[in-house]
Formats: sequence, C-alpha cells, structure tokens
Amino acid sequence: MSARDGDGWVECTCGGKHWGRYGAAGLLLVRDQKILLQHRAPWVHNGDTWGVPGGARDSHESVREAALREAIEELGIEGDLVEPLEDFFDDHGVWSYTTVIARAKAELVAHEQNDESLQIEWIAFNDVTSKNLHPSFAHTWPQVKTIVERLFS
Ligand SMILES: [Zn+2]
Repeated sequence: MSARDGDGWVECTCGGKHWGRYGAAGLLLVRDQKILLQHRAPWVHNGDTWGVPGGARDSHESVREAALREAIEELGIEGDLVEPLEDFFDDHGVWSYTTVIARAKAELVAHEQNDESLQIEWIAFNDVTSKNLHPSFAHTWPQVKTIVERLFS
C-alpha cells in the first residue's frame, strides 16, 4: 500500500489538534430517517465515542473520494451503493472537516470491518445526541442535522 500524504497532525488556530494535513472528511450515511454511526474503539484518538467513518484526505483526492475510501475501509461497504448528496464544510482556516451527506441504498450492508470500530448502528435523527459523540461530530451535528432533515423530509 502506498503511503498516504494526508496522514499527520495539524495544530489548529482553534486551539485543537486535528488529524489530516489536507483536512479530513467523513461519510454520513442516511437511510430510513436514520444515520449510520460507528462506535470507535477506546484506543483510538477520542476513542469510546460515536461518530461517522472518515479520516485524512490525501492531496490528490477530493473530499468525497476521501470520505468514501475511508468508509469502504472501515465498514466494508460497496461504494456504488452510496449516493452523495451534499457536503457540509467545517472550516477552521488551517484545517477543515467535510461531512459528506449521502443516501445509502437499500442493499447497503455495513460491517465492523477493522479494529478501530467496536460497533455500528443505524440511529434515528432525534436519538443521535443520546450517544456519547465524538467531539468534532457533536460540534457539527446540529448544522448537519438541519441539512439532513431538509434532504430527507
Ligand atoms: Zn480547529
């Protein structure tokens, strides 16, 4: 496997430290008024929290390509069962996180594919905040939820 040029930490102007030299992207899969969340293992950064699959973007990738690649690696899903609809861009200046909001087709089956993921679950929009959310996801979810509700109402 070739080295990923996006891997690395960024010291951010927001005071935080983020993963992904060219920013990061995540895939928010939506189906039947639910979103797919992943329970991250305790040993990863911000572990033991729920979030969307995703990771660092490489310089040659679009954010959608990065989000889809990470989701395929982490969940073992088939990329052609994912229909990206809209991107939510969380811009920190020196770093950014893009949430790619996508429709999951009925045939899509997600698996716990690697050891970074303990559990995956489809969760109703209104129940999302009852989970212990990854801090970055928790921060953007209120805005992302507005888009999701508009797209899937
Ligand atoms: Zn930041």
